[in-house]
Amino acid sequence: MILILTPDLKPESELYRQLMVHLSRLPNIQSRVHQERGTEQTLTEIYLIGNTLAIPVEEIKALPGVERVVRVSEEYRVLGRHKDDDRPAHFDYQGLRFGQDTLHVFAGLCAVDTQEHVEMMMRALRDNGQVCTRMGAYKPRTSAYSFQGRGKTCLPYVFDLAGKYGIKVIAMEITHELQIDEITGALHQTGNPTGVLLQIGTRNTQNFELLKIVGRQQDYPVLLKRGFGITLTESLHAAEYLASEGNRKVIFGLRGIKSSLGDPHRNFADFAHVPVVKALTRMPVCVDPSHAIGSRRAGPEGILDVMHVTAQGVIAGANLILADFHPAPDQALVDGPQALLLNELPRFLEDVQIAREAYEKRLSLAQRYVNHHHAGS
Ligand code: PEP
Ligand code: MN
Repeated sequence: MILILTPDLKPESELYRQLMVHLSRLPNIQSRVHQERGTEQTLTEIYLIGNTLAIPVEEIKALPGVERVVRVSEEYRVLGRHKDDDRPAHFDYQGLRFGQDTLHVFAGLCAVDTQEHVEMMMRALRDNGQVCTRMGAYKPRTSAYSFQGRGKTCLPYVFDLAGKYGIKVIAMEITHELQIDEITGALHQTGNPTGVLLQIGTRNTQNFELLKIVGRQQDYPVLLKRGFGITLTESLHAAEYLASEGNRKVIFGLRGIKSSLGDPHRNFADFAHVPVVKALTRMPVCVDPSHAIGSRRAGPEGILDVMHVTAQGVIAGANLILADFHPAPDQALVDGPQALLLNELPRFLEDVQIAREAYEKRLSLAQRYVNHHHAGS
């Protein structure tokens, strides 16, 4: 059960103290407080854990300081959608809104290689009106002998260039908690010119210690990718694990599942799960068409498979697209074969726009039928 308190109720206040005393007297119930500091107000939620079925909702609702009470099912207490649950399905970061109703494109380098390539990428993004990108500095690889990323040495120039080209958020994978400090240090050193979306890759979806650490910090939102060989439920539990530590700014990423049934694609695209994740949780949903497809294969009409699956994700309501681009894919140190070229960026963005408009039309069609259903019979 979740108690949503009246906005701006201060933990120091007498009202709050009395409420907590009352809750502490409930038998076999523990409470856990979560505070959400927004730009306008601070919202406090109290999670009651234990035998909550025995608690009369009306009585709790009537307590001074309690605005609303939500009875939650066992699953996804923090991130889930529950009956009468109107907690928001969005958050703000760097002046941008990330929600189940927005769409942002994160086109960029799979892995940072040279400063020159980073600059070429960011210039192309700015010239195409983009304010988000992906830039891998720490790369978990299938082989121990493969390039592991430039690590912290590239961070100062990546952040400086982001500032120069107006990039507000960089999706950047981390594989170890110390890398958060390296990122924070480099941002500080360069005067905080940009923001970072911490990415947890598919190989770390169930790295629970890492999840807890990114869940405990509130400086950066997190993009958690689905594990490539586990069920959707197991990956959503991982997201809940993270969020239950405090950080609710979590985006869930679909990137295809590992299966030979996806051949000739690198992974089997799972973007049919976009609406499933949105129905079960309040997380914005990201799709990664590049890692799903893994190559520059194209259909007979000349549309790249990467663009096809991007459109499939967007037309199903995806909120974020993570896409590999590179100024010279044959020189890329990671995933060159799946990268799109800089001169393909305008076309890619226009294709995304077409799919988004189609999604919006589908949305209004659906709403027309829902309203009809309510108003009519
Ligand atoms: C990536 O986005 O660079 C990446 C390694 O993705 P994934 O964790 O989905 O393989
Ligand atoms: Mn990659």
